[in-house]
Amino acid sequence: MNKEWSDKNKKMQTLIGKEATFAEGIDVLVDLRNDLFTQISYIVDAYPEDAYYQMPFAGAEGYHSKTLAYSMWHIFRIEDIVAHTLIKGDEQVLFSGKWQKKIGSPIITTGNELVGDEIAEFSKRLDINALFEYCKAVMESTNELVRGLSYKDLKHKFSEEDKTGVLESKCVSTDEKAAWLVDYWCEKDIRGLIKMPFSRHWIMHIEAMCRIKDKLCLMARKGVDPIARCGLSCNHCFLKNWCGGCRTAYNTCSNAINCPGRVCPNSACCMEKGIDGCYECDELRGCRKGFYKYDDVNAIKAMALFIRKYGKKELLSVMDKLHKEHDFEKIQEILGDDIDEGFGILERCR
Ligand code: SF4
Ligand code: SF4
Repeated sequence: MNKEWSDKNKKMQTLIGKEATFAEGIDVLVDLRNDLFTQISYIVDAYPEDAYYQMPFAGAEGYHSKTLAYSMWHIFRIEDIVAHTLIKGDEQVLFSGKWQKKIGSPIITTGNELVGDEIAEFSKRLDINALFEYCKAVMESTNELVRGLSYKDLKHKFSEEDKTGVLESKCVSTDEKAAWLVDYWCEKDIRGLIKMPFSRHWIMHIEAMCRIKDKLCLMARKGVDPIARCGLSCNHCFLKNWCGGCRTAYNTCSNAINCPGRVCPNSACCMEKGIDGCYECDELRGCRKGFYKYDDVNAIKAMALFIRKYGKKELLSVMDKLHKEHDFEKIQEILGDDIDEGFGILERCR
């Protein structure tokens, strides 16, 4: 489990366990949920449409065997049912916001009953932007709910009537893969529900989403030129788990995701000029477009100049050597801000 999330989760559990620190514990819970939700926002901002219904771990044991879209639906449907039908006894966000139609979902249940291809088919039907807005609405609504709790509320248990309310909502399938959920929730007190589903359930599914998207990026990069158009080596980039590179549909480079069509200025310019990369351009040295406008990432231009002189294969081998000899994340930590000095370091490493 991600250490930062796990530590925050443990801290939250300890703090809410004592009346004196309960309010602080709720702050930590909301903070943890915000951190986790940021991961979902990154994914939705960056990944192409087909990413949401791929099952790169189909058939595996565990949450990573699902899709990104299913994971989002499942986390927030469960939370919506528990927060509204079970705890508050009011209308779920799904219904009050008419989200089912906006999302295009054929079901109102948690999705536990779906298996194999059914998960991919279900995922294909969902409007991801609408689904993301629904997730956000549920998160905010639950944050409000937990902020309104008192220490005494933690021991609140649920009655047979509460359980009947959940069953009658028909939001949990009667299929044996799903039906157990009702007893599972109703046997807990509110403190137990804060753990599952309001915190730990998020951690487990969002970690699985990270595994899915890492694998999708890896698959997208397979057989693709690992040299980005600006001269960066995608094989050595510190974001290689997040990004498929600018020659794939899984390009999540920060320089690209805020540009029209998610194509960065360097890529757009290369394509317009009909060249493979900036290293083939006569204007390279003085160019200030895209990635080259930042003085603190001149290292990338040094790499492009190196490719122009020695070729891509040589750059990849020098990068392998540099990573063996030094412990670094970003290449500018080694090559610095000066283009000529950076180029010299690369040359000396040949
Ligand atoms: S700046 Fe552009 S060319 Fe360079 S890695 Fe990012 S998307 Fe690719
Ligand atoms: S002008 Fe700049 S961005 Fe365009 S291809 Fe040349 S070096 Fe790259």
